[in-house]
Amino acid sequence: MGARILDASGPRGLSGDLRDHPFDVEARALRRAVFAWTDSGVTAGRDALSWRATREPWAVLVSETMLAQTTVARVAQRHPAFLERFPTPAALAQASRGEVLQAWSGLGYNRRATQLHALATRVVAEHGGALPRSLPALLELPGVGPYTARALLCFAHDEPVGVVDTNVGRVLARAVAGRRLSAREAQGLADALVPRRDPRRWGLALMDLGSLCCRARRPKCGSCPLEVAGRCRFVAARARDAHSEDPAVGSAGTSARQSAFKGSDRELRGRLLRAACAGPLRPPLLADLASGEGGAPRVARLAERLAAEGLLVADGQGGYRLP
Ligand code: SF4
Repeated sequence: MGARILDASGPRGLSGDLRDHPFDVEARALRRAVFAWTDSGVTAGRDALSWRATREPWAVLVSETMLAQTTVARVAQRHPAFLERFPTPAALAQASRGEVLQAWSGLGYNRRATQLHALATRVVAEHGGALPRSLPALLELPGVGPYTARALLCFAHDEPVGVVDTNVGRVLARAVAGRRLSAREAQGLADALVPRRDPRRWGLALMDLGSLCCRARRPKCGSCPLEVAGRCRFVAARARDAHSEDPAVGSAGTSARQSAFKGSDRELRGRLLRAACAGPLRPPLLADLASGEGGAPRVARLAERLAAEGLLVADGQGGYRLP
């Protein structure tokens, strides 16, 4: 059965991408329910976040890079200061990698900082310092994947592209499809649901819905506009069979649970980099860090790996420093 997107106002050409997908979606009713929910003011606090209060592409890209693996609360604290220090790709490109790592310290997953630095350098060299505006050109940039590229087009330029992050992936699988989705299906469905008017507002609303109501564990269906409007297939399936599988589990875009942070290599890598931000990692300091952390071999292995990734530089005397 082909998809029936029961609404002519979707972006031209995209609905056709769903011809092979067995969904039957009343897009207009779905949007009406979601927009009424955001209009009620439940997301007002999120609209005030620094990356939502702007459409400046660089500010949006920096926020998306941070939000990929850091909580909204932490990014809300750090995003304005990072932009004040590096207000343009050119400003970031001019800084050393070490300076960028220092400014990133505490946000975790530090490779994102070096990738952002590489991206800024490319943007200056190849795009005159301005982020490109086409999907293929964005996807050529270091660290920019399908999600980030589309988020930039939608949130900075109000372009009608579907943006599928973990939150949206859950809403699509549970409410709209009622089953697990492949990456292609999730993207096709997201694209087909985008309204011609207000694509940015729609993209943000779907994310908010996933974050505030359609949470990974224990979704708050009682306060979800799609439950109220009778538009959630997962809720309907659960009404028929209380043991229906959650379609969001393993669906495209949704994330698997992360392994424990405490005691992990990830935690120790972060500690090594924070120490390097304060000054050179000389052998006595490395020995200090090694005590109680699995010993010197583990610290040496992680420091070497950080150096191989370009996050530290060996000083040739058994120590390391920021690049
Ligand atoms: S009704 Fe429940 S499962 Fe369905 S979209 Fe809303 S929160 Fe998610």
